[in-house]
Amino acid sequence: MKELVIVGGGVAGLSAGIYAQLRGFHATVVEKHRVPGGNLTGWNRDGRHIDNCIHWLTGTNPVTENYEMWKTLGALGEVGVHRLPTLYTYRKHGKSLSLHRDLERLRKDMLALSPEDAEKTEQLIADIRAAIHFTGIGGEKNDRKSTQLERLAALPVLKRYYGMTTGELAAQFHDPTIRGFLRSLLTERFGAVALLLVFATFCSGDGDLPEDGSLAMAWRMADRFQSLGGSLRLGVGAKRVCLEHSLATAVELADGTVLPADYVILSCDPEIAFGKLLDRSLMPDYLRKQYEDLRLRRFSACQCAFACQMKKLPFVGEQVFELPPALRKKYGASYLLVREFSHETGYSGREGSLLQTMFFIDEDACIRLLHAAVDRAAYQSMKTELSADMERALAAEFPALDGQLRCLDAWTPVSYRRYTGAAVGSFMGFAFGARVLPVLRSGRVPGVKNLLLASQWQQPPGGLPIAAKAGRAAIELIAKNKK
Ligand SMILES: Cc1cc2nc3c(=O)[nH]c(=O)nc-3n(C[C@H](O)[C@H](O)[C@H](O)COP(=O)(O)OP(=O)(O)OC[C@H]3O[C@@H](n4cnc5c(N)ncnc54)[C@H](O)[C@@H]3O)c2cc1C
Repeated sequence: MKELVIVGGGVAGLSAGIYAQLRGFHATVVEKHRVPGGNLTGWNRDGRHIDNCIHWLTGTNPVTENYEMWKTLGALGEVGVHRLPTLYTYRKHGKSLSLHRDLERLRKDMLALSPEDAEKTEQLIADIRAAIHFTGIGGEKNDRKSTQLERLAALPVLKRYYGMTTGELAAQFHDPTIRGFLRSLLTERFGAVALLLVFATFCSGDGDLPEDGSLAMAWRMADRFQSLGGSLRLGVGAKRVCLEHSLATAVELADGTVLPADYVILSCDPEIAFGKLLDRSLMPDYLRKQYEDLRLRRFSACQCAFACQMKKLPFVGEQVFELPPALRKKYGASYLLVREFSHETGYSGREGSLLQTMFFIDEDACIRLLHAAVDRAAYQSMKTELSADMERALAAEFPALDGQLRCLDAWTPVSYRRYTGAAVGSFMGFAFGARVLPVLRSGRVPGVKNLLLASQWQQPPGGLPIAAKAGRAAIELIAKNKK
């Protein structure tokens, strides 16, 4: 039986491991942490559960191809999903606009907010309807696969959005609430095609939350892998990939163990793969170019979790609003996202409720933060300041929260860098601007026949389905080679 060693027990690595076992290989997944899942994780603080990851999962609609994949991976199928009525609500000066499941409701809300934008609104809604077919979903009730003809019909629409950023799309509207709504979810430099597909996915009955959250999903995948006979080595990292005559022969672990391999799959951040485990010169050209391409930038976020004394919060679902000007300048971020967890009653313990805040920061801000955090004491006080700033921002937007919050934890790109090793503390792939085609690149590593990549970095902007698909694609390549 061919032996595969997979470095990284995140979603990509676990997916590669599961598909390897299903194809008749034996796989060992090596994960430096004691917990599998990588970014798909969560942790407990003071009797509460903090969910680090899933805001929405593409592939919860049973007619989609992604659903089949998640079922194979043990992530969905047995477990229920929370069907949220809205993905997010943008708020500004007492007005708000929500992304509802029901596209007709979004249309009416936009028309009510701004009759002046009627033409643009009708166009956007029609484009979302067309893009739904592109995501593979068809039927009045989003309950069948789309036909090839329907998918093809969506192409001219996607082509129009391909050349635009979300900021440019938003600028076509007069109303400030609609503009903020379109800009705030992905930030305004993102490709508008990504926003269109987010809207299409959510409005087509997809993108729910698996019950019990992110960490439970990671463990379901790890259990599935082990139940198929795969070996999971937690708590010890890979130190190097051994190469002989342009072949990967083994993976050496930090504790000195050497795992012989017929194939090696790298499912960690590419800067660890090509820099620590292997020579940087082996990095595939397309990846090297992506790191240099200014349309593709890495990003991360600063986040806080708060216990709240109130059982009933002044809002439901995810809310997005502008950070006060002083904080925008201080953190280099524009919008604050706050989510609550009334759908998961177990998260907040016996009393009150739980809130999490998050704002995105770009690659340069991540690097500045990482440099500043070298001084541990300075970093601790930075986190204390961050939680105080977030508490004030929340109280300014929702006065009822004033005096009700207690910070449970604050985490930043520094935390992600420490946890997964990602170079700038990023947790997704490259954010992409206009005129970028988000396609899954091959996992082959030129020059080493039996070495492959399986990682979210093979397709911007990354995310769980892309990581899982990258794992599957690596095994398909190996199976094809073997034949
Ligand atoms: C706050 C947040 C919100 C998110 N929201 C969503 C969402 O709503 N929907 C969505 O689809 N995605 C979301 N994501 C993104 C998603 O979590 C990631 O895209 C995905 O988990 C990436 O999987 P991966 O396996 O490619 O990489 P990773 O998760 O980075 O896994 C890589 C693994 O390799 C391990 N590793 C590194 N070096 C070594 C070594 N030397 N030896 C052994 N192991 C090593 C790391 O510890 C890690 O476990 C979110 C992420 C975060 C953090």
